[in-house]
Amino acid sequence: MLCLSSLDKTAPKDQTDTMTFSAIVVAAGSGSRAGSGTPKQWREVGAKPVARWSVEAFFAAGAKSIVLVVPPGDMHLAEEIFRDLKDLAIVPGGAERADSVSAGLSALAGDAPDVVMIHDAARPFLKMVHIQALLADLKHAEGAILALPVADTLKRAQADGAVITVPRDGLWRAQTPQAFRYKTLVDAYAAWPGDSPPTDEAVVIETAGGRVRLTPGDPALMKLTYPEDFYMAEALAGSARVTRVGQGVDAHRFGPGDGVWLCGVKIAGERTLIGHSDADAGLHAITDAILGAIGEGDIGDHFPPTDAQWKGAPSHLFLSHAAELVRRKGGKLINVDVTLICERPKIKPHRQAMRETLAALLDLPVDRISVKATTTEGMGYTGREEGLLAQAIASVETPA
Ligand code: MG
Repeated sequence: MLCLSSLDKTAPKDQTDTMTFSAIVVAAGSGSRAGSGTPKQWREVGAKPVARWSVEAFFAAGAKSIVLVVPPGDMHLAEEIFRDLKDLAIVPGGAERADSVSAGLSALAGDAPDVVMIHDAARPFLKMVHIQALLADLKHAEGAILALPVADTLKRAQADGAVITVPRDGLWRAQTPQAFRYKTLVDAYAAWPGDSPPTDEAVVIETAGGRVRLTPGDPALMKLTYPEDFYMAEALAGSARVTRVGQGVDAHRFGPGDGVWLCGVKIAGERTLIGHSDADAGLHAITDAILGAIGEGDIGDHFPPTDAQWKGAPSHLFLSHAAELVRRKGGKLINVDVTLICERPKIKPHRQAMRETLAALLDLPVDRISVKATTTEGMGYTGREEGLLAQAIASVETPA
């Protein structure tokens, strides 16, 4: 699993570089004020359920583990929405927010992280910079929470109809995530007096005598509460994701054999492609293109040719690994385009089978997969039929 230090190599070496963090995303409310009948965490923004945005952002930032706390009656729905994210734990919540957070903390107890971040699922536009800022501020306090200074003039309505102005100096609006050392928060919850439930986690730490630091928040992290909030969220959704492109190139030499593997399809013949694995240059180029799009090095970094376990390995293993890394980064593959450059074998008769094989391996519709072929008209090593060259491009959408 990634850690923050591998994502931000420019950060100075300090304690936070090696701290692990896990996240509890609280989606256990009924969200009735947001209208529409569907709880707001399951309503779609930017063609995606609201709760999914935060889960993907935590995956992208390298969380050790992520727990999503949902209403007990929505377990089945949540498992369906997140069925592709096998590393996500989904647990039923309780009547109060604090009960749901406790359920999340218990779910993490078996493999406790250094830091836990508690986050409202109704704040979808979480970014890696928010998470990094909280981790940095935790060096100076028992807790760090995202918060915004109050900009509006505040009024208090009196029972008799009079209005008084409340000084706003020093007043901040608390957002989430709220970050704490895991053990500190568990201990503070255990010590909570219990006359009424806490409205956030920071107050639990404050009551236990801990210091909570205010980390500059972000207006885009607004909590979706009322129907009109969803119009604003739709407008923000476009800038919360980025499209990335990667390219991959691979070549293998021909030798005597009984056929070649290309794009996951075996084409019978009198030659094979020579390599440590099954030498499927098509799959290797696509794998490198996907790894390139998410900045995860190349196929040799993940499957060293010096490692005996990959000898003769079917290359779909490499491709599936790259696709899994995309998912773990909260990303989504958009399309793949590969060109096979050779005089023989003729690719066209096998093209549709290759597209269908790739579509199944990558869980994409066939029209998102392109397989093309060309020759070099007898020129160069592909023209002399010494070897085959493959080039691929992949595009991926990830959290910004
Ligand atoms: Mg290769």
